[in-house]
Amino acid sequence: DAITVQELANRMAERAGDVIKSLMKMGMMATITQSIDSDTAELVVAEFGHKSKRVSESDVELQLQGKEDSPEDLKPRAPVVTVMGHVDHGKTSLLDALRRSDVAAGEAGGITQHIGAYQVKVPSGARITFLDTPGHEAFTEMRARGANVTDIVVLVVAADDGIMAQTVEAIRHAKAAGCPIIVAINKCDLPDADPNRVRTELLQHEIVVEEMSGDVLSVEVSAKTQQGLDKLEEAILLQAELLEVKANPDRRAEGAVVEAKMEKGRGSVATVLVTKGTLNVGDIFVAGAEWGRVRALLDDRGQRVKSAGPSTPVEVLGLQGTPVAGDEFGVVESESQAREIAEYRQRVLREKSAVAGARGSVEQMLSAIAAGQAEELPVVIKTDVHGSLEAIRTTLEKLSNDQVAVRILHGAVGAISESDITLAKASGALVLGFNVRAVPQARDMAQQEGLEIRYYSIIYELIDDIKAALTGMLSPDL
Ligand code: GDP
Repeated sequence: DAITVQELANRMAERAGDVIKSLMKMGMMATITQSIDSDTAELVVAEFGHKSKRVSESDVELQLQGKEDSPEDLKPRAPVVTVMGHVDHGKTSLLDALRRSDVAAGEAGGITQHIGAYQVKVPSGARITFLDTPGHEAFTEMRARGANVTDIVVLVVAADDGIMAQTVEAIRHAKAAGCPIIVAINKCDLPDADPNRVRTELLQHEIVVEEMSGDVLSVEVSAKTQQGLDKLEEAILLQAELLEVKANPDRRAEGAVVEAKMEKGRGSVATVLVTKGTLNVGDIFVAGAEWGRVRALLDDRGQRVKSAGPSTPVEVLGLQGTPVAGDEFGVVESESQAREIAEYRQRVLREKSAVAGARGSVEQMLSAIAAGQAEELPVVIKTDVHGSLEAIRTTLEKLSNDQVAVRILHGAVGAISESDITLAKASGALVLGFNVRAVPQARDMAQQEGLEIRYYSIIYELIDDIKAALTGMLSPDL
């Protein structure tokens, strides 16, 4: 842990020159941009007569976390849904159609706004929240940043086209996130629609719908004619009931940033999806490495509201900077606390970007395993032939011990693709290539993300590496 002279001075509200002088008295020559270690910093702080407080990620977690909710405080909330599926299968059309079907839309009469998420009210009065950035990239990106806000994935499959490449990817991403899937068989208005073919094809991807004696709900819909939309909403609400989606509305708000931008005249604006508690005008909050005080809240119709409870998306005005989609959001007690957390995080971000090519999530995962905090080692494996994939799979499954299990997020034949990298990044997984290479785009992406791809041509070497990883002893430069 280190801090620059400038930052230390800022935090103490002292002049940097005075800090440099104080360091000189200790026999240290330092410039304003130079980093000093935390022990030295503490001495300086004491010299100025301030009380020192080291902030660590765990302190931040503690400050952001309220008390555990007791079960009786939990109230049902609207489920949060992400729509995924192959391009042109009708994700956007379906999201539009669902929004138009909202019974509350007529009542309020407000102009609908695109804020990244919206909520619909069904005739029974129940509500459903939809994230309106369809597709698995946004979903995975959010998850990679730690925001697991989606309760249910609606997988859109066009009845005239069937399962396509991105359908399979969407299934994989939903499964990796542990999100239940509801299948919306779309374009059922078309003469060549074949919903049964879709159901059959899904079997190959381990999605067994009810009609095939499984437990995955599937609904035939048409975004064009609005046919089946009510059934789809019913299915979502049924699934939500099974999942028991609940939250305590009576606490400090927590949530995730769904969208954020700079706007002329409005400053930084973020759409926040509240996951717990209630967000109020006037609340002081942290959003990722930014903080602010809620100046105004606007709902998905652009109307001002005073507060927003669980599962409600709202636009928040009053940010000091622009956070990033997927950043966590939390209300804190005081402005000084908010500043402290935001500054700490900004420093961490700077340090991270300074370490060129740092191995991010995988390294963290491995150290978490070593520290006994993680129970799973997620991996993505690509091989040249099916035979070797199966051999590796079987051996890896046997390798899992009581404490740690290898979890194969995705195993397939073929080159390592960009989608493999996205998936690995979101789950902090190791990417293993056996007799295959990464396509150039995937290699570039892995490099940018600081994610390592390991290549092998001998099975036992791969197995030995995983064994080492499981015991937290993987040498980083293999
Ligand atoms: P996305 O890429 O998955 O978001 O798909 P879009 O919503 O953009 O739809 C792709 C095309 O399919 C558009 O031309 C839509 O008009 C059409 N489409 C979407 N849903 C339906 C449907 O239910 N029936 C018919 N006939 N066409 C649809």
